[in-house]
Amino acid sequence: MKEEKLGLYKKLGIKLTPQRLAILEYLENNREHPSAEDIYNALKDRFPSMSFATVYNTLEILIEKGLIKELGIDSHKRRYDPEISLHHHFLCKRCGKILDIESKYDIFIPEKLKDCQVLDFQIVFYGFCPNCK
Ligand code: ZN
Ligand code: MN
Repeated sequence: MKEEKLGLYKKLGIKLTPQRLAILEYLENNREHPSAEDIYNALKDRFPSMSFATVYNTLEILIEKGLIKELGIDSHKRRYDPEISLHHHFLCKRCGKILDIESKYDIFIPEKLKDCQVLDFQIVFYGFCPNCK
């Protein structure tokens, strides 16, 4: 992991245990939108003493610090996205694959929300991926 990244984590007050470092490395440039279970399963052989709670707590901290986003689009399990810039998603209803959609969409803020401060929006396409359709 790059020095500047490590510096950022330290600056944000994220304690870097070996397990946490492994979770951060697993998430870096990961476009699979893994669930907490996915991360746990990928790392448990390397860290047999690591608990599921460690993964979950680390994810919570990263969300709180704005380093990853939690995706609520898969009704089976929460998924996590280390790409925090604005983008959209496609969810395969059969295999659960989530694809990034980078297209730009112009949307209108609904009249109903005129007194709200809208921070974010996301377009989700649902369907079947090429392997599943
Ligand atoms: Zn699929
Ligand atoms: Mn994404």
